[in-house]
Amino acid sequence: MALQGKVALVTGAASGIGEETARKLAADGAAVVIADLNLANAQKVADSIVEAGGRAIAVSMDVTSEDAVNAGIEETVAKLGGIDVLVSNAGIQIVAPIEEYAYADWKKMLAIHLDGAFLTTKAAIKHMYASGKGGSIIYMGSVHSHEASKLKSAYVTAKHGLLGLARVVAKEGGPRGVRANVVCPGFVRTPLVEKQIPEQAKALGISEADVVKNVMLKETVDGEFTTVDDVANTVAFLAGFESNALTGQSIVVSHGWFMQ
Ligand code: NAD
Repeated sequence: MALQGKVALVTGAASGIGEETARKLAADGAAVVIADLNLANAQKVADSIVEAGGRAIAVSMDVTSEDAVNAGIEETVAKLGGIDVLVSNAGIQIVAPIEEYAYADWKKMLAIHLDGAFLTTKAAIKHMYASGKGGSIIYMGSVHSHEASKLKSAYVTAKHGLLGLARVVAKEGGPRGVRANVVCPGFVRTPLVEKQIPEQAKALGISEADVVKNVMLKETVDGEFTTVDDVANTVAFLAGFESNALTGQSIVVSHGWFMQ
């Protein structure tokens, strides 16, 4: 129970990586906030954590809205007494070659991935400072924080940007006990990836099996997908790591797709 007594807010926690991360943080003793655009699913996740003996609440939050983010963080502090861990995880994917990439889609991608990370950090860090206890901020990056792939201009740009944000937050927050790190998964079979398989097959003119084998998993050491458990365990490790020795870093969880 490494996180006993801590409060952790996870954005995009109604599905996939965020959901499993929230379950793991709760199993490690944290009171968790399931923050998501989809409140109905967020509530289901929170209810099932409570049924399993954990502490959880659901909060409606569009991470691109400053008002919604501030309201969700204030609700967290009011109901649970503070915030010790922020996992900025909400994300979507839109793939297209750059000459066809709609400007509106580019802006939507940067808003969810980068504005969302900035707004949640800004709202949470002041409570981490005020408590005198500091905290741990974890951004959900990607192998695409380090590598590029065709069709993913906005995603790769945003995920690279998170490395810069984490390093600045590490420097500003360090003296006050706030650590900031980026977890960088390889492909994980969540709804976000299931949707991409047919889209990439169409865009690249290859079969769905080829997308999995020769695009998504080609560079891994064993042809295996990373799992939601792999990512959740890494986030939990960072959340419970209580010194500035590990800050401003990215940890790549990708079956060796990217080695740094
Ligand atoms: P997912 O589609 O399973 O879940 C994403 C969640 O984010 C959903 O519950 C959705 O409602 C929520 N969300 C979307 N827009 C939101 C917004 N504006 N405000 C609040 N919530 C919002 O996706 P996932 O695969 O679990 O992805 C989670 C994160 O992991 C993303 O940042 C993604 O880029 C990253 N990631 C995923 C993979 C992968 O292979 N699945 C790999 C590397 C990184």
